[in-house]
Amino acid sequence: MALIVQKYGGTSVGTPERIKNVAKRVARFKAQGHDLVIVLSAMSGETNRLIALAKEMQVNPDPRELDVIISTGEQVTIGLLAMALKDAGIDARSYTGGQVKILTDSAFTKARIQSIDDENMRADLNAGRVVIVAGFQGVDAEGNITTLGRGGSDTTGVALAAALHADECQIYTDVDGVYTTDPRVVPEARKLKTITFEEMLEMASLGSKVLQIRSVEFAGKYNVKLRVLSSFQEDGEGTLITFEEDSNMEKPVVSGIAFNRDEARINVTGVPDKPGIAYQILGPVADANIDVDMIIQNVGQEGTTDFSFTVPKNDLPRTIKVLESVQDHIAARSISGDDKICKISIVGVGMRSHVGVASTMFRTLAEEGINIQMISTSEIKISVIVDEKYLELAVRVLHKAFGLDQVL
Ligand code: ADP
Ligand code: ASP
Ligand code: MG
Repeated sequence: MALIVQKYGGTSVGTPERIKNVAKRVARFKAQGHDLVIVLSAMSGETNRLIALAKEMQVNPDPRELDVIISTGEQVTIGLLAMALKDAGIDARSYTGGQVKILTDSAFTKARIQSIDDENMRADLNAGRVVIVAGFQGVDAEGNITTLGRGGSDTTGVALAAALHADECQIYTDVDGVYTTDPRVVPEARKLKTITFEEMLEMASLGSKVLQIRSVEFAGKYNVKLRVLSSFQEDGEGTLITFEEDSNMEKPVVSGIAFNRDEARINVTGVPDKPGIAYQILGPVADANIDVDMIIQNVGQEGTTDFSFTVPKNDLPRTIKVLESVQDHIAARSISGDDKICKISIVGVGMRSHVGVASTMFRTLAEEGINIQMISTSEIKISVIVDEKYLELAVRVLHKAFGLDQVL
């Protein structure tokens, strides 16, 4: 008998029928004697629908009110699952984030979990009930409803597993595990039996939305046994996120490819090449709470230099405005933005001990005539920015070039 936290994503609870299927799986685990805490997302498409609705009222929705609205999707699914379970003769009780309570900071739309009160959940589990918790939401110290950022139900799941010292956290989704890359883009992608925590962290941070990055961070910090599985299969091992590299296994150099369509590139040209210029450009951007990812400053020529960086696509107009307001001060010749770009990253702990990975990547892209606009590297990843129209092609050829389509 174990304590298991199961999280079901939007597609897995997308229709009443699918919610009944979730109830069946929960019933099976319950019949095996396990204690269960279930975390649910909103029905697929619902969060997007609610955001669109909010934007009809305000072009830039007030963040506090936006959270009031977008947290409702999860409140519907948890109630429905509790009913489905009761209908099957299983005692269950649903809780919103505030009812649990999941305490967060007050950063509306991207709040961070600070603490979780496990009292209600423990009492229910002791009474033999299935506990159902709304994902993606919490409450701040003043009692305001907060949400945890897109994909945040994963984080609710892992955070509850950590707080309850659960034996395992199972993330049920619409694919049967973590693949070498998004199987919807590369049909030859292979499911991984295991992936190291470090690699999963990189994959998530570089755009693989199969797990929200904060859920992986939580799992690492609190040693949560984390597994990704399909809600559409009866059984299957899914993918286990491991803390240690399996020394018995021949590790590939590159384990996976991630991509992100969500960035835009800014170019600032002709700025004086002198100390402090990076700060003068990026300081106002940071003050406006805009996250900067990749940064390149060219070698100066004749006293001036060019500067490029990437920001989330949504923040492109705002970033341009901020820079235009300081254009005279930084003496820039021009400020421009391009949102038709994407970032493609190869990830693998095996890269540490191999040279030539970067040249293979660059050669492969060159052979397809794909121009690289920016590059950044770390010990276990290489990222490039390329024109958005090459995304699928680039991921496919890289997947092949690094042998990711070959069974080991
Ligand atoms: P959920 O609604 O269950 O949270 P998401 O849509 O957030 O599901 O995440 C699952 C999706 O992540 C898959 O349908 C797949 O398209 C995408 N994905 C991206 N990269 C990967 C990867 N490396 N392995 C598996 N799925 C991936
Ligand atoms: N419903 C939220 C979203 O669409 C949270 C989640 O699904 O994890 O982002
Ligand atoms: Mg998700």
